[in-house]
Amino acid sequence: MSSPLQLPTYDDVAAAARRLSGHAHRTPVLRSRTADALLGAQLYFKCENFQRMGAFKFRGAFNALSEFTPAQRKTGVLAFSSGNHAQAIALSARILDMPAAILMPLDAPAAKLAATRGYGAQVITYDRFAEDRQAIGERLAAERGMTLIPPYDHPDVLAGQGTAAKELFDDVGELDHLFVCLGGGGLLSGSALAARALAPRCKIYGVEPEAGNDGQQSFRSGEIVHIDTPKTIADGAQTQFLGQYTFAIIRRDVDDILTATDDQLIVAMRFFAERMKMLVEPTGCLGFAGARHCGVPLQGARVGVIISGGNVDMARFAQLLGS
Ligand SMILES: *Cc1c(COP(=O)(O)O)cnc(C)c1O
Repeated sequence: MSSPLQLPTYDDVAAAARRLSGHAHRTPVLRSRTADALLGAQLYFKCENFQRMGAFKFRGAFNALSEFTPAQRKTGVLAFSSGNHAQAIALSARILDMPAAILMPLDAPAAKLAATRGYGAQVITYDRFAEDRQAIGERLAAERGMTLIPPYDHPDVLAGQGTAAKELFDDVGELDHLFVCLGGGGLLSGSALAARALAPRCKIYGVEPEAGNDGQQSFRSGEIVHIDTPKTIADGAQTQFLGQYTFAIIRRDVDDILTATDDQLIVAMRFFAERMKMLVEPTGCLGFAGARHCGVPLQGARVGVIISGGNVDMARFAQLLGS
């Protein structure tokens, strides 16, 4: 049976890498002897916290907007996002000189709301516990003739996200394991496309918050499972369900979905700050927390960890580390 969806392939990731060249940062791959000693493995951290606007989401957003027709560029882009996708779309729209309107939750971190406005986008807020952002987004897009770019379930978005893992493999060669933060699955599915082409034997894991393990339930059951908005400090992974595209690729190419607790994320956040002198947002800690606490034997293995972002309010950061 052929899939009704036309799934993107590694060629789309490679094409995205060409479009992003000169616009996205080629982020560093950092090592830590302390981390290696803790896990008994060789760890390679792909640091997307150093990406433009502070997260990998710039890759997918810029790639998607680069594919707009001249007519689409004129009316511009609409996005809904809990934060980083909003900033990514706003910045990409500014670079590509098109209008952007962003639908954001009222309770999004203040730094993310401010940064999105700072990039010149119009911000429209809504109550994410009471209103359906998809419906609001579609209505606004129709009224204004703008093109809606979703945060993860879009071929150009996930292909763009895959360029981070592509760079990691290009820089360090094949790995035995790769741990990737999981929300709606754009980063994980794109990473899987890159891994299957560049490191076929690499085992790939998505790591999501324990409080919101819809991805794990979906992976195990073979159907996309919907959950209520989970309460977790990982605000970038409070997604309620995987996408059609992302799930199809994850099911085919990913080895397992793991979870991490909020306490484990805080431990990882403190580790990055103290040992590696890096500011990583809670969601960005999922990959490392998963590698450290999942029980997968990693002794002697070469292990990639994608650190997905570094956008966290300073007050919030201090509060989390003080707890
Ligand atoms: C969006 C985001 C994620 C989750 O990415 P998906 O593509 O939705 O799975 C993880 N970490 C950060 C920092 C993010 O902004």
